[in-house]
Amino acid sequence: MPILADCHLHSCFSGDSDAPMEAMIQRAISLGLSHMCFTEHMDLDFPQTPESPAGMFELRTDDYRAALMEYRKRYEGQIQIGFGVELGMQPHINAENARYANACDFDFVIASTHLVDRMDPYESSYFAGRSQEEAYRRYFEAELESMASYTDYDVYGHIDYVIRYGRTRDKEYCYEKYADLFDRMIDLLLSAQKGIELNTGGLRKGLRQPHPCTPFLKRYRKMGGSVLTVGSDAHRAADVASHFGQAAEVLTDCGFTHYCTFRQRRPSFHRL
Ligand SMILES: [Zn+2]
Ligand SMILES: [Zn+2]
Repeated sequence: MPILADCHLHSCFSGDSDAPMEAMIQRAISLGLSHMCFTEHMDLDFPQTPESPAGMFELRTDDYRAALMEYRKRYEGQIQIGFGVELGMQPHINAENARYANACDFDFVIASTHLVDRMDPYESSYFAGRSQEEAYRRYFEAELESMASYTDYDVYGHIDYVIRYGRTRDKEYCYEKYADLFDRMIDLLLSAQKGIELNTGGLRKGLRQPHPCTPFLKRYRKMGGSVLTVGSDAHRAADVASHFGQAAEVLTDCGFTHYCTFRQRRPSFHRL
């Protein structure tokens, strides 16, 4: 079966997208999806830069929810629309993030690391003064710290996202170099009963494998992991469900038989 649910989507309620929500929905319907989940950015305490003015990644949750509920009604019977959030992890705001995640009736919460030591890997300054391997390693350590100290989420987002921004990107990157960290991540995720996502955003940017890389997916599955959502991380309608054919092939190769969607923070399993 093709993958019919895109569980990582941004619209103009995210500070880095100007896509109308309805355009995203119509695109998903035209592709034949049965489920889509918006996961707008909420990055509390995001450092202010010329590219990210104060509050850029702070979600106007009430407005977002009201719009989504309106569209959910309008498109009832055509597609299921989930109310989700992509919550930016930083260890010093764990308590605030947990309060926020619990205060809203989200269907689905993705935890993502967009900042490490108050720096954004998207900016070249993150890589300054250290090797690419050190910069990647520090990103994975930060994720591990979040996984060890924060549990109010459903899946961890784009686990090797940092490789999008290194000088040689995925060229010298492999699971084995970071196996000490990745193995611990998988243990932590499984013991906390948390899932992961397969994110196709990197494939659109020319990476050879989805996030996280195939060996990560394989090991997660081998160790008993079954909770996995698939998301395009689209910020515009044209990217909804992009590379989902490839995602299905990768997942099958890695031993998965199902993918998940979430409603009221509980997973449902769908056959691949
Ligand atoms: Zn993200
Ligand atoms: Zn995203």
